[in-house]
Amino acid sequence: MKETRLFCSNCKKEFSSKKLDIICDSCGQALEVETISGKINDENPLGQTILQRYAQFYPYIDENDSISLGEGFTPLVESKKLAEEIGIGSLYFKNETQNPTWSFKDRGTLVGVLHAKDLGYKRIGTVSTGNMAVSVAAYGAKAGLETFVLVKKGMAEEKMNPIAIYGPHLIKVDGEYGKMYFESLKIGLQNEIYFINSDVPFRVEGYKTLAYEICEQLDFEVPDYVVVPTSAGGNIRGILKGFEEFKKSGYIKKLPVMVCAQASGCSPIVKAYENGEERISRFENPETIAHAIENPFPPSGNPVLSKLGQNKGLFVSVTDEEIIRAQADLSKEGLFVQPASAVSLASVRKLKEEGKIGKNDSVSCVLTGSGLKYTAAFEKHELESCECRLDELSGHIRDNY
Ligand SMILES: *Cc1c(COP(=O)(O)O)cnc(C)c1O
Ligand SMILES: [Zn+2]
Repeated sequence: MKETRLFCSNCKKEFSSKKLDIICDSCGQALEVETISGKINDENPLGQTILQRYAQFYPYIDENDSISLGEGFTPLVESKKLAEEIGIGSLYFKNETQNPTWSFKDRGTLVGVLHAKDLGYKRIGTVSTGNMAVSVAAYGAKAGLETFVLVKKGMAEEKMNPIAIYGPHLIKVDGEYGKMYFESLKIGLQNEIYFINSDVPFRVEGYKTLAYEICEQLDFEVPDYVVVPTSAGGNIRGILKGFEEFKKSGYIKKLPVMVCAQASGCSPIVKAYENGEERISRFENPETIAHAIENPFPPSGNPVLSKLGQNKGLFVSVTDEEIIRAQADLSKEGLFVQPASAVSLASVRKLKEEGKIGKNDSVSCVLTGSGLKYTAAFEKHELESCECRLDELSGHIRDNY
């Protein structure tokens, strides 16, 4: 693969893709691959993978490597009903639940694993309790790499099993979970494991395709707002970079306003923005139903603050009550997502009420992961059913509905 340059998102120090650097050794902030321009490869739309279609935007990758599980190319579903009810011009949902492991993480895992293979790593890993763990376990299996997944001791079986089924080394670690991300960087170096964690530069690179697809699906008419449920901050950084690259390549004329959406029960980035801080600080006692976005000290928090700031980005947080309502509203549109993903719709409603999104504006929400990933949320809804004998069924329907 070709070498590419990376830069520190803060001090701009330069790094090379031929070495594994996750954070800047001068200032400790996240690294980012240089901005790339290119052309879409439109040869065989139904026969290609995302990396084949967008190969020119990944010059450092062998796009024909066969570890793809068919990630990406997810639907962009319009809801005229919700747009009308909220009072905005148009509303679309990028349904990332249709990825191989039911979340957008697969886009990033794919690119991260290919980079690990290129550097000659035989072992990969991740620190996660949720979607990232499942995704890395699946791609590790497909790529035939030894895969280490570090989770918190005491994690429930029902969350462990969907990771374990892919056959990784699943290690329940007894200790402070908040430190594990930083520990994993060290452990990785000592044991030759490439940890594809939440804001590893090549994971973030994988998320660019989400933006490319939205552009293509809307015939290159960029939405006014793109709303992204945000935790570590890797996804929203990657999506923004995707739009920037399509603008640089001449495909689109403007960038959308990016919306960093968090749960009020854990909103370190929104809080820093509202307080006018340049740096995030640890969010004390996080508590929200949106577990997939419950990172109290997001590693990409600072670059998200600064990058979105330069781009007139919005920062918004919503309560658990608003999240559950949005989860119900989405289900009634045929879209069953986990609470973290419903944060996007709840945020649109709030931003409209606050007058930050206007009545003619177009909005795309990223539905990050599937509702089946967190079935405990069923308890928060009034779900009904009734019982009836077969010989009474016809009368039952006639008399009751
Ligand atoms: C990982 C995840 C997010 C947050 O993405 P970040 O890159 O950590 O900001 C949001 N929703 C779901 C369902 C996720 O799994
Ligand atoms: Zn730096």
